[in-house]
Amino acid sequence: MYTLEYVPDLIESGPAGVTELKRNSELVGRDPRIGGINIGDRVKSLDSLDTVTCGRIAADASGKVPLLHLAGKNRTPDQARAVIARALSQGLENMLLLTGDGITEKRAERFRYQESVNAIRDAKQMAPASLVAGAISPFKYREEELANQYLKMAKKVSIGVDYLITNCGWDMRKLEELAWYRDARGFQTPLVANLLMPTMGWARGIHSRRLPGVFMSDDLFNKICEEHAQGKAEAKRWAWNRLALQIVGAQHLGYAGVHMSGVDRYEDLCTAIEMADNLARELPSLEAWKEAWNEAHRLPDGRTVDFAPPRGLYLFDTKPAPGSLNHLPAFGDVKPSEAELAKYARMKTLHDVAFEEGTLGASVMSLAVRALDKTAIGRSALLQLEKTTKHAALGCETCGFCRIEYLFYNCPETCPKGLANGPCAGTDENTCEFKDRECIHNRKYRLAKSLGRLDELERTIVPPVEGTRGTSSWANHFKGKDPKVG
Ligand code: SF4
Repeated sequence: MYTLEYVPDLIESGPAGVTELKRNSELVGRDPRIGGINIGDRVKSLDSLDTVTCGRIAADASGKVPLLHLAGKNRTPDQARAVIARALSQGLENMLLLTGDGITEKRAERFRYQESVNAIRDAKQMAPASLVAGAISPFKYREEELANQYLKMAKKVSIGVDYLITNCGWDMRKLEELAWYRDARGFQTPLVANLLMPTMGWARGIHSRRLPGVFMSDDLFNKICEEHAQGKAEAKRWAWNRLALQIVGAQHLGYAGVHMSGVDRYEDLCTAIEMADNLARELPSLEAWKEAWNEAHRLPDGRTVDFAPPRGLYLFDTKPAPGSLNHLPAFGDVKPSEAELAKYARMKTLHDVAFEEGTLGASVMSLAVRALDKTAIGRSALLQLEKTTKHAALGCETCGFCRIEYLFYNCPETCPKGLANGPCAGTDENTCEFKDRECIHNRKYRLAKSLGRLDELERTIVPPVEGTRGTSSWANHFKGKDPKVG
């Protein structure tokens, strides 16, 4: 499967982009090799053209249902559901549901995100027959961030995601690792590889880590610089060859399709498809392909390009037997620190004593909280007390639905996107996409691993916060108002 990318323009840029969208869509409509147009959401800015509107234009011009990317970026759960409902009402039932990357626009308020996991579940409940894709980023090289991607992937599979699209990257061993893991777990979910052909400008930006979650090693960057130094035509030849080789590699690894980021003209997509078709005939096996891939990435010193950062971690050294795993295999040697373990133990004890249903402590707490909740002054005092105690200890922002229990006593509000179900794809060697903290899901992983409870991170779907911000989670808890966690 091939799709052609369209990234909606800024609203202020006017109709030029839409004209190009129509032209490409008409051509795609006549080409049986291409599944349809693939439309980004809020990529350039929150003020980009509406994705559903663009989707309708593409559908009308091509006669093919496009793939809409719908991001949770600056959308409440209700708003995210409304966008899905609008797409469905227009017959646009192919969607890739994403959390979305970090918002760089300066605005006074804190941005919230609807999580991809919850959006996928909503879409499948709203329209079980819709075709819903999720994202997975296999290009992670530290234990926590890599494991977390696979743990979150299992959640998406369990709620019925129809296929998975990777983030972009050039480390084909990582694409292989994902296919191996999918097969070893017995998941049937088809995989689609997102491939990006970097121009020199893109390579510079990615190598200096300006594209969230996309990694380019020093070796690959130096190779691209060396290709560029041979002149524009040579650089282009190398770049197209790399892209075509990646397409063929993805086919040999069992991927169901490719999406090419940055290839947004029908004619360019045709070039890629034709080059890949020719290469596929020359490289009929995975072994032949591997040899060609390595040869295309030979460095002047005779080595082949190392696509990983130093000490980059892989899940497997050899292919596991299909169906041989029923959970994430043990790999890596990270452990929680003494301080993390001690904090977990403290919080768990407090939770068990004061909040666990049926205990004396919880009965007393319940009586006290309910009494305070009866008056406005009492509610305000309760909220203040919760805020003061929990903000200092956990970073609580009084969302009204305390989820720390499901995150091994880490507050999801300390994630800039507010994610509770696992990390976004933006981690960079365990550092948060916002570059100001370690990804908060790492601590959760270390604790779950050391406590032998990693399976919980695969199956616990934490619902979003809806309508409770600025209220006491204690009151909501004891009044039985917490959403069902499943
Ligand atoms: S803390 Fe983790 S999940 Fe949250 S924004 Fe940062 S990288 Fe993404």
